[in-house]
Amino acid sequence: MKITDIELIRFRLPTRSHGTKWGYGSDGEQHDGVQTITRIVTDDGVEGFTTGGVHSYFYGPSPDEITRLVKPLLVGQDPLDRELLWQWMKGNRGFSEALIGNIDSALWDLAGRAAGQSVAQLLGKARGKVRAYASTAPNLGSPEVYAQLARDCQDRGYTAFKVHAYIYADPKTLEPMPGKPASPQADVEVCEAVADAVGDSMTLMLDPWGIYSYQESLYVGREIERLGYYFFEHPMDEKAVEPYRRLSSELEIAVCGPELAAGMHYSRAEWLAQQATDIGRIDINFGGITACRRAVDMYESFGMPCEMHVGGFGNAAILGATTQETCEFFERGLLYPLDHPMGDYDRTPVYLNEPCDPMDDEGNVILPSSPGLGYDFNWDYIEGNRLDG
Ligand SMILES: [Mg+2]
Repeated sequence: MKITDIELIRFRLPTRSHGTKWGYGSDGEQHDGVQTITRIVTDDGVEGFTTGGVHSYFYGPSPDEITRLVKPLLVGQDPLDRELLWQWMKGNRGFSEALIGNIDSALWDLAGRAAGQSVAQLLGKARGKVRAYASTAPNLGSPEVYAQLARDCQDRGYTAFKVHAYIYADPKTLEPMPGKPASPQADVEVCEAVADAVGDSMTLMLDPWGIYSYQESLYVGREIERLGYYFFEHPMDEKAVEPYRRLSSELEIAVCGPELAAGMHYSRAEWLAQQATDIGRIDINFGGITACRRAVDMYESFGMPCEMHVGGFGNAAILGATTQETCEFFERGLLYPLDHPMGDYDRTPVYLNEPCDPMDDEGNVILPSSPGLGYDFNWDYIEGNRLDG
């Protein structure tokens, strides 16, 4: 089998997400964003896909990257030589690890479709469902808004709830502002309200998205320890490892990360060697299925859990190929209050016929099981909204 073409399909997708000058998104009026599908075509007729862009956290390549970097390297090659092609991409300085992640995931999708198996099966399947946690959107309002969302999530079946409190926004006005100074006391008030509402029956976590100083992390970490929280995710900027090593040794609560540190599984190995966190973290933007597989296997070898960052089809494949002992949760979200315009998370995105992460009444995500990564695209919508013919 040979790769004959790599196509970038770009299409309009409505979104309420807006960028801010501070580099962190905020919600607002609906507008058209751009969603991408990377499509790898072969002389056998088998194809592979990955998605990226506005709907998700996942990287959507630019047309220039596909033309200038990806096609010259991959066209004419056997798409099943995933390790070789991954090494070639890694060795080419033009490829970001997010671009590698996008292409590598499409190659795994193609291999699964060729074999008639899910990617989880190709990796060595361990399970078909994973315990979900409800992952809130940030900057939702008062502590009571968070407490009510936690109660609603519990009613929906969730057994775990992760707070994103006030991140790059003023706790009172919710207006965008620089990430620092952060709002640790307001964040603790949210955590307290959520713990009061559901703390004796749901597993709780906090993610300040890297905006705390070391001292703020120590303060909030001790407060949520007292409230019985389960893990404390990505509290500080992940460019520096040493503050994490100190924080993890100071706190009882498990520190989870790195989420955004560059370096794929290689940097996770360095963090692990430094004992800089207690629970690892990665997602397919950091080198794709190939790098995530290496990361979770490394963490498993050291008896350390790894929380996959965000949902999506690629991460779902890694979850399907690991046990609960290594990867405990599926991150489901981001979630908004029920009366918010984005409050219906269970609705299937318009460009898909089936959602990635349907959840049962016990709070478990049923993982995709069809060949490849499990995408079922709504091609009528996609073709009707294409930006480039
Ligand atoms: Mg996070």
